Amino acid sequence: MSFAELGLAPELLRAIADEGYTQPTPIQAQSIPLVLAGRDLLGAAQTGTGKTAAFTLPILNKLIATPPTGAQRQVRVLVLVPTRELAAQVGESIRTYGRHLPAVKTAIIFGGVGINPQIDQLRRGVDIVVATPGRLLDHLQQRTVNLSGIQMLVLDEADRMLDMGFIRDIRRVIAVLPKQRQNLLFSATFNNDIRGLAESLLNNPASVEVAARNTTAERVEQRVHFVDKSRKTALIAHLVKAGDWQQVLIFTRTKHGANRLAEQLMREGIVSDAIHGNKSQNARTRALADFKSGKVRVLVATDIAARGIDIDQLPHVINHELPNVPEDYVHRIGRTGRAGAEGEAISLVSGDERAFLKDIQRLLRREIPVVVIPGFEVGSAPSAAELATRAAHPERERPPLAPGNDRGNQQRRRSSAPRSNGNNNNGGGNSRPAARANPQANRGSGRPGGQTTQRAR
Ligand code: AMP
Repeated sequence: MSFAELGLAPELLRAIADEGYTQPTPIQAQSIPLVLAGRDLLGAAQTGTGKTAAFTLPILNKLIATPPTGAQRQVRVLVLVPTRELAAQVGESIRTYGRHLPAVKTAIIFGGVGINPQIDQLRRGVDIVVATPGRLLDHLQQRTVNLSGIQMLVLDEADRMLDMGFIRDIRRVIAVLPKQRQNLLFSATFNNDIRGLAESLLNNPASVEVAARNTTAERVEQRVHFVDKSRKTALIAHLVKAGDWQQVLIFTRTKHGANRLAEQLMREGIVSDAIHGNKSQNARTRALADFKSGKVRVLVATDIAARGIDIDQLPHVINHELPNVPEDYVHRIGRTGRAGAEGEAISLVSGDERAFLKDIQRLLRREIPVVVIPGFEVGSAPSAAELATRAAHPERERPPLAPGNDRGNQQRRRSSAPRSNGNNNNGGGNSRPAARANPQANRGSGRPGGQTTQRAR
């Protein structure tokens, strides 16, 4: 099956060729003809499957097939997404695939940045709006966007939108749309809430599914290291240095945990940054750009902030803690091994997380190999160097987070721990400069698990 056989316009085929895609991914091969035929669609697909092009290409094709009517250009397509990053990314894809269609205009609407440029852009007239629900509602309230001409609605990563509590916002947006329209809903996971939303939204939908949701999981080399909670950071530093890993995405369960880990790794000489919902949009964009360009070696992220991070061939993903929702594990490791590339996903599992591991293995329907890293066995004594680092940075000794209660923990921490005790981050003048560690100097510390392979970025 080729893209040409799918009935796409020559301008789109040219853009696809520019991208170097030779054949449609399975979700594209299934979805494109259905969307072109005007069907509603229920798509079971996660990022990394090519799903963005699966809806973007036929949407663009339909837009150019029926040029706008009337003097005023109306918004005809609305794509709702959960996060700013995903909005930016989907918008970027539309621009990429629409490169040879200069008449099609797209606005990307999300919060955390000034509203006025968005208002100006909407006023000039756009065909497609890609938006997060909250900021779109602001525009609706201010009457700076008119959605009465919407012909197609896409809910992308609908499961994540519900997880983030957007259901009411979504329903308020849908309420102002014309009843007669084509609807596409994509979700990586399906629970009763998603099914409920799909039932109320979709009209006789066609279902497309790309294999099992663990296809990504199959491409990614996974392993688990059992380790004492207090030694997780030291183990990460060891893995990154000994394997000479240059681009590592690490997940933590909390925003505070993300900041703290990034700071600790910086002290180990590993250039690191954190992204999470408390950071400004600019700081997030900058951190992501630095990570992509290689300036930042380790990016520590919470699940939501990492959603939609699109880096081709991201070689290493580490779970500092396992997520308590097993589907999040699949999302996380889907950051590596994208679009056919190989990747490696490592989970650091302490004793209190064994139950999470079981749930994840049940979802994957297989066991994840456990690899022992010499020197980091459960219950083994930390090395003298590790103890010295810990003594210099006693904040590492804080009691670990209890699993399964992210929000509660964050609140407890916020209310109880006086942060200004000079003990938290840069206090005491003991922070080392953020120099990139010399990997050669660390080679002698032994290869972790004997199987860490360096992959080209
Ligand atoms: P997505 O699932 O939409 O996030 O896409 C994942 C990645 O696959 C993106 O980096 C796309 O550029 C890439 N991609 C999408 N379609 C294809 C294709 N047909 N062939 C090769 N790569 C693709």
